[in-house]
Amino acid sequence: MTARRHEEDDGLTLPDRQPLAGRTCLVTGASRGIGRHIASELGRYGATVVVNYRSSEAAAHAVADRITEAEGEGLGYPIRADVTDLDEVAAMRDAVADALGPIDVLVANAGVTRDRRFAEMSAEEWHRTIDVCLHGTFNCTKAFYDDIERADHGRLVTISSVVGKQGNVGQANYAAAKSGLFGFTRSIALELAPSGSTANCVAPGFTDTEMVQTIPEDVRAEIRSNVPLGRFADPDEIAGLVRYLAGEESGYITGEVIDVNGGTDL
Ligand code: NAP
Repeated sequence: MTARRHEEDDGLTLPDRQPLAGRTCLVTGASRGIGRHIASELGRYGATVVVNYRSSEAAAHAVADRITEAEGEGLGYPIRADVTDLDEVAAMRDAVADALGPIDVLVANAGVTRDRRFAEMSAEEWHRTIDVCLHGTFNCTKAFYDDIERADHGRLVTISSVVGKQGNVGQANYAAAKSGLFGFTRSIALELAPSGSTANCVAPGFTDTEMVQTIPEDVRAEIRSNVPLGRFADPDEIAGLVRYLAGEESGYITGEVIDVNGGTDL
């Protein structure tokens, strides 16, 4: 729902409601890192935010509580589900439907890494990464597709990575999953288009979260030196774009892969 503006609006009048008030957004993997920042940002703009997590229960509840307790219309609703488990995702869909009704926006953010050079990579490391990053996105999109298609300005936002475009030493599994999201999101965008709902993919560069904090400092320094802006992304810089894509104003953007990577491709 866009901010309502006064008829004589000259562009300077403040909206009389928060721009995402009345919209329900589900963010997977929202207990920590980028997902936590996305959930908070959507809440700050007035959305009801379903804060999905797998293991970090206390952290997820804290994210939801902060959204609810903050001044404004945002509400937080924590819910546990492993996105790789179809039954758990179905139970999450049913619980959300009972408590909040259909969702308008799905942000498929949950992801993991299991880094190792390909010669040493185990089948378990390959499958776990693909399971969370790609199959998890399938499971959640499948569960909430009808909601998004029927919503007024429904939105799917998938979170990929610069690694999906460039590949990376030790990340064949992760790169395969993340580039898989490009074709997935574009295809869903085409299928959703007749309904007016959109699907877009955000491809962050290296971002300062636990996922990156586990990389040895010498490797982190080398990664930073290859970024024209000379630093990692702040998670809020990813969250701001997702918040824009979740709103009504982004309605003519669909099927895009949008880089937020400090100029890494330049
Ligand atoms: P993170 O700090 O490691 O957080 C990962 C989140 O995903 C946690 O909330 C975790 O929840 C959740 N999660 C993991 N497995 C899950 C599962 N099976 N079911 C449900 N939730 C699950 O990672 P991040 O850096 O914020 O990354 C978020 C997304 O951005 C990922 O898709 C990642 O690939 C992508 N990305 C990250 C970077 C980066 O440099 N950080 C760059 C590009 C793209 P629990 O703790 O509750 O298990």
